Amino acid sequence: MPRPIQAYIDLEALTHNLTIVRQYAPNARIMAVVKANAYGHGLLHTAQALRNADGFALLELDAAICLREAGFRHPILLLEGFFSTQELALLEKYRLSAVIHHNEQVAMLTNSTHRNLDIFLKINTGMNRLGFAPEQFPAIFEKLSNNPAISQITVMTHFATADSAINNVRFCHQLQRFDEVTRNAPSSCSMANSAAIIRYPETHRDWIRPGLMLYGASPFAAHTAADFKLKPVMTLVSKIIAVHHLKKGDIVGYSGSFQAEKPMRIGIVACGYADGYPRHAPTGTPVLVNNQICRLIGKVSMDMLAVDLTDSNNVRVSNPVTLWGQGLPIEKIANAAETVSYELLSSLSTRVGMILSEENSQDQSTPIQLQSN
Ligand SMILES: *Cc1c(COP(=O)(O)O)cnc(C)c1O
Repeated sequence: MPRPIQAYIDLEALTHNLTIVRQYAPNARIMAVVKANAYGHGLLHTAQALRNADGFALLELDAAICLREAGFRHPILLLEGFFSTQELALLEKYRLSAVIHHNEQVAMLTNSTHRNLDIFLKINTGMNRLGFAPEQFPAIFEKLSNNPAISQITVMTHFATADSAINNVRFCHQLQRFDEVTRNAPSSCSMANSAAIIRYPETHRDWIRPGLMLYGASPFAAHTAADFKLKPVMTLVSKIIAVHHLKKGDIVGYSGSFQAEKPMRIGIVACGYADGYPRHAPTGTPVLVNNQICRLIGKVSMDMLAVDLTDSNNVRVSNPVTLWGQGLPIEKIANAAETVSYELLSSLSTRVGMILSEENSQDQSTPIQLQSN
């Protein structure tokens, strides 16, 4: 028997969540974001389940090539563009689109023999991560419009605060800047991530870029995915591998930060931070044991964590545990560990095996022949 920790991937939930995205933005094309190994869910089976999206976005060139070689014909967008002229040849060979966000990329394109490159020209409207300053935009747009390497320009931006209710002013400012700057640019445009898709319909435009919501997690800390009818795709499960009785004053785990104040019964779960569970999850973080909520106690170690079974006297070794997913919203774990669902999902370790559910056989669209992964 291998270690009992496994990530169950519900492919039907992925197609369901894609349908929800379409309901939010019926007139936009969907660029499904599959960066970081599809937010930890595994690239190829995720893309296969999301094949009714209109495109894929990611930033790892090898993963983009892998999608193309697996037979996907969708537009594939590299969200950080390219980093060297050598990569341009691969972009052409595999028909990959690129975000253009700084002058060095423009210079590389100016001297290139590349043809038919579709680009997403990124404007920095206030996030201050990637993109051209609004003042630079008209000249850059003009220059790229006349570049024979480029066949299509979509203008884009990215919001810093679409997920935070209190910072609406900044969001509005970004949106306003974008519209001002691009008013005279004859291009389609793309701005919305999951939070903006849900909260700001005025951002939907031509292409939306959902990531997190496709995986069935909420971009808002105060909500769980179910509030938006999204279904969790990943359920991280394991088992109880040991049970102990503690006396008052006994400690649990490294540094003895947890000490029993009364006689207790505890369970040890085969899941630790090397599996992707957050090391900073404190005592009290919910864990689902035999379908009952228990609390995590003590420090999470590399391979194991402990749960309080004092009030769950029916629990035995080999009983099932859910760390997040179906039955235990991942947002609860993210909030307890003072992180975000994005980090939890994308940190899933490669040593955790994945079990893929059967996809909905009602789906009539053409399946793509996948290579093994
Ligand atoms: C990751 C990413 C997205 C997706 O964001 P979510 O919040 O996961 O929906 C969209 N656009 C860009 C540029 C990204 O890097």
